[in-house]
Amino acid sequence: MGAVDDGLRRLQVGQYACPRCRLPQDRVATLEQDWVLLEPGVEVLAHLVPAEHRWITLSDGRVTVYGVCPPDGSQRCRIEHRLTCSKQPLPDLWPWLTALRAENARAAQRRTDPEPPRPPQAWPDAG
Ligand SMILES: [Zn+2]
Repeated sequence: MGAVDDGLRRLQVGQYACPRCRLPQDRVATLEQDWVLLEPGVEVLAHLVPAEHRWITLSDGRVTVYGVCPPDGSQRCRIEHRLTCSKQPLPDLWPWLTALRAENARAAQRRTDPEPPRPPQAWPDAG
């Protein structure tokens, strides 16, 4: 880790350009001795964000995932830039909703599939 990174660790936040879209994002230290890239200037009500994607800032400036369910109604959280980046695919935020969409796709496909041929009610006389 170089001098720049050491300085950022002390400050616990720094702005980086997203390598994909080039927009600025906040690089913030996590409780787990790691870094996370957060969308700058955006704090949303926690209940609008899936639990594993909510980041809250602690008193020392580090951030951690806010996984409380149900969340406090007034709690706000930050989100990772990768969720808002136009150059990155959106991860599966709501797996239950994705599963329901897949089931609906199968149901719709069953409705549009041609019906299998019905067996004849009676075989024609062969004699
Ligand atoms: Zn980006």
